[in-house]
Amino acid sequence: MAKIKRAAVIGAGVMGAAIAGHLANAGIRTLLLDIVPRELSEKEKAAGLSLADKSVRNRLARTGVERLYKEKPAPLFHRRVAERIELGNLEDDLPRLAEMDWVVEAVVENLSIKQDLFARIEKVWQSGTIISSNTSGISIQNMVKACSPEFRSHFLGTHFFNPPRYMKLLEIIPTKDTDASIVAEMKAFAEDVLGKGVVFAKDTPNFIANRIGVYGLAITFQKMLEEGLGPDEVDAVTGRAMGRPKSATFRTLDLVGLDTFIHVSDNVRENVDDPAEKQAFSIPELLRTMVDKGWLGAKSGQGFFKKV
Ligand code: NAD
Repeated sequence: MAKIKRAAVIGAGVMGAAIAGHLANAGIRTLLLDIVPRELSEKEKAAGLSLADKSVRNRLARTGVERLYKEKPAPLFHRRVAERIELGNLEDDLPRLAEMDWVVEAVVENLSIKQDLFARIEKVWQSGTIISSNTSGISIQNMVKACSPEFRSHFLGTHFFNPPRYMKLLEIIPTKDTDASIVAEMKAFAEDVLGKGVVFAKDTPNFIANRIGVYGLAITFQKMLEEGLGPDEVDAVTGRAMGRPKSATFRTLDLVGLDTFIHVSDNVRENVDDPAEKQAFSIPELLRTMVDKGWLGAKSGQGFFKKV
């Protein structure tokens, strides 16, 4: 019997909210935390954003967790499952992490933000609580290098795929410090309770799936620009025509989030030595321009495609 009964997810964005939804589907009472943004950058003000627009967590708070049942694809299999998710904010609810069996971090893909967060979590952490990161590819070991050996023994990577309710794969990334009993418990929970197929990955940039998958997406994007193709044409070929009904190239980028995709691609470029591989993970300027304009993909309503 898996021992995880209470979980917390930190970061209520694209992945955090959907992971909380999938945990709730599996009968796990889940606390979903995010930050409350305090101010807007000059760029965000110029783009006419409000604080409420900026916070995905606020979006959930405004419209209710039940919206996770209305989204497509829906993270929740039934609207009543939403009762198992409690929303909170990191500033007030951090001490409650001590009550949890498992805490999974799904905040923005940035090493120093994650390091700061784990330093804060360690202050309230009780031995026995498993802590993991849903990072797409940042070094697991580096995230907690300033934490105690005891904390590090409870820490590992748990990389879910988008959308987490439907994607079967879970990459588990233990470090040299992760206790074998924690790895075994996480694997049993992922397989028996969450219905995942577990693959163990090494703590290398972007692990296994994103080292291959992001490469494919980045190369497609570079070639598309060179050859003057449009997203519709590329998706027509890389979707149904290739036996992938839902995961055509540019629709996948919109689903992932263009800002997140840049972070994930940059992570490989900055952490490999091979110049050819660095080049392959280079992001065309057009993508950065889109993100600067607030075109983040499905989560902002506009990416390569406009969400209706
Ligand atoms: P997102 O941009 O949708 O959401 C990030 C959330 O983090 C936001 O709600 C934001 O308010 C919150 N946040 C930012 N700084 C914070 C802080 N200091 N403390 C707490 N919360 C903070 O991002 P996402 O796509 O959900 O990605 C989250 C993580 O999951 C990243 O590490 C990403 O690489 C990984 N991931 C993403 C995907 C994907 O398809 N988007 C897939 C697998 C893994």
